[in-house]
Amino acid sequence: MNSTDSAGDKLHDMKVLQGMTLEQIRTVIEIMQQSSDAYMFILDLSADIYILSEKATKRFPFRTMVIENCTETIRKVIHPSDYEMVASDLEKCRLGEKDTHALEYRWMDRMNRVVWISCRGTVVTGAEGHRLLIGTVSELGRKAKADNVTGLRREAALRLDMGNLLQENPGSVHYMMRIGIDNFKEINEKEGIEAGDEVLRELAECILKTVGENVRVYRLMADEFMVVDEGQAMELEPRAVYRQVQQAIAVTAKRKEYSRFYTVSAGVLEGDFTGKTVEEIMRYTEFALNEAKRGGRNQMRPFVQADYEVYLRKLDIRKALRQDINHDFRGFEVYYQPIVSTAGGYKLIGAEALLRWKNDGYDNMSPAVFVPILEESGLIIPVGRFVLWEAARACKKWQQYIPEFHINVNLSYVQLHKSDLMRDVEKCVQEVGLDPESLVLELTESGYIETNERIKELFRDLKARNIDLALDDFGTGYSNMRYLKEIDFRTVKIDRSFVAQALQSEYDFNIISHIIDMVHSLGSAVCMEGIEEKEELARMMATKPDMIQGYYFGKPAPAKQFEEDFLLAKDSL
Ligand code: C2E
Ligand code: MG
Ligand code: MG
Repeated sequence: MNSTDSAGDKLHDMKVLQGMTLEQIRTVIEIMQQSSDAYMFILDLSADIYILSEKATKRFPFRTMVIENCTETIRKVIHPSDYEMVASDLEKCRLGEKDTHALEYRWMDRMNRVVWISCRGTVVTGAEGHRLLIGTVSELGRKAKADNVTGLRREAALRLDMGNLLQENPGSVHYMMRIGIDNFKEINEKEGIEAGDEVLRELAECILKTVGENVRVYRLMADEFMVVDEGQAMELEPRAVYRQVQQAIAVTAKRKEYSRFYTVSAGVLEGDFTGKTVEEIMRYTEFALNEAKRGGRNQMRPFVQADYEVYLRKLDIRKALRQDINHDFRGFEVYYQPIVSTAGGYKLIGAEALLRWKNDGYDNMSPAVFVPILEESGLIIPVGRFVLWEAARACKKWQQYIPEFHINVNLSYVQLHKSDLMRDVEKCVQEVGLDPESLVLELTESGYIETNERIKELFRDLKARNIDLALDDFGTGYSNMRYLKEIDFRTVKIDRSFVAQALQSEYDFNIISHIIDMVHSLGSAVCMEGIEEKEELARMMATKPDMIQGYYFGKPAPAKQFEEDFLLAKDSL
């Protein structure tokens, strides 16, 4: 054992902890070491003596188990880039400013290879009031291989560094930039983990090349990196850093003859860091990066507090929606708005089912706000079913007054793509005993732009069951006539905004007239939405719509009221 030969007898017999001599402690460490993979150590911060297990001396370039003037020796073992961080943390432990030490950093092994380690310990008071750090060093390399991919420090180190900075000198932080690879999953899946690792290494190099030595770069989970510019003066504007990283990636891609291609997005947090917590800055940078990705990737986005608040509000709404759905659709109600046919006088022929949601936290929220949230979260699928069943039952009931009464139900593209709509519709009409011909499903243009075979088949199946489709909101979005030809819409609903324009300008009025002619020539009927006034009705009737839906004939109303106003009352229109 090459243990204490350099330390003299005096050191040998020195009382260290609870009356134990150094030799006794060394023996305890050796015994404990037998039952652990981690290396045990005691660091006497006051006397600058380091005692560690023999196993550690075999793997790392420590000459002996007991090391005097250890600051110097440790310096040779710790990776130069990490030394300052470790030394400063240990100094705080020595001065009594903190009593725990938990850092991840790099040691160099006997072959001078980098090994990531996690060093954890607690300070206790030993003999003569010495401050002793007792703990373990575990190698991370074996447990978490990816840690060694880029040679950069990890999230734990970032959190720790930022924690210290935010506490001690938040003003010195200029910006934090979170960089993420746009198509990392694809690279990993298509080309394998090795290729993924290579890209990570490459990107780490590109970032390090761009930023100077004073800028800290960390590797976060999966495919993300964090750049922290901190110090006297900002080295480079974040946008310039981002551009240069993009350029460096392009140069590397060219050098490698375009064998692989990837882009990166970035989210930047700038401004005053005072009073912010580590959790906050991590969340803010994550949000900004996600915004960049949502915005189409391959771009940089700054963190904008107002956008973040909108996002948080959406999360709150989503939570409330989910809770209400799970409480048997508490607060959800279907309203009905009359649809009037124009053939031979105005006659009620049906209604559109329009969803409403009431929640104590939010007063009368428009479906234009909460429907997109239901769509994003997939919650529109159960809610869509709820609407379908409610509307089908109401329609069945109202057919006792008007036998040809039909009901229009709005469908979201999410329902088309992500649920078994045909099954739901079949089941619904069967359970309710509704004639499928009374059901009209409304779709908006934007939803099926990416019309695929499955959707086309669904449309064919619906047609085979005599369920009609209506194209909703025509005039907004692309107003693409091609869809009218491709998909057999029974009705085209002209959006209120289009109607409003036609009421204001002769030119738009002519366009709408032509469009209606064209729709008619393709064999579909036209329903005009948003007619509010008598004059509007008179003017728009010249364009020969087949149906009208608008406040003029009736606003959306709860089932009971709709029934009273339009089905039980005489001369309701
Ligand atoms: P939409 O399907 O185009 O429905 C027509 C909208 O125009 C309704 O708004 C209706 O209240 C409004 N409207 C009708 N006549 C007039 C009028 O004369 N003047 C004015 N200013 N507005 C009129 P609402 O109920 O707020 O619904 C907004 C949108 O939310 C709907 O537009 C539809 O896209 C969506 N939505 C509503 N219910 C559902 C649902 O159950 N499922 C799905 N996926 N979407 C729904
Ligand atoms: Mg509609
Ligand atoms: Mg509409």
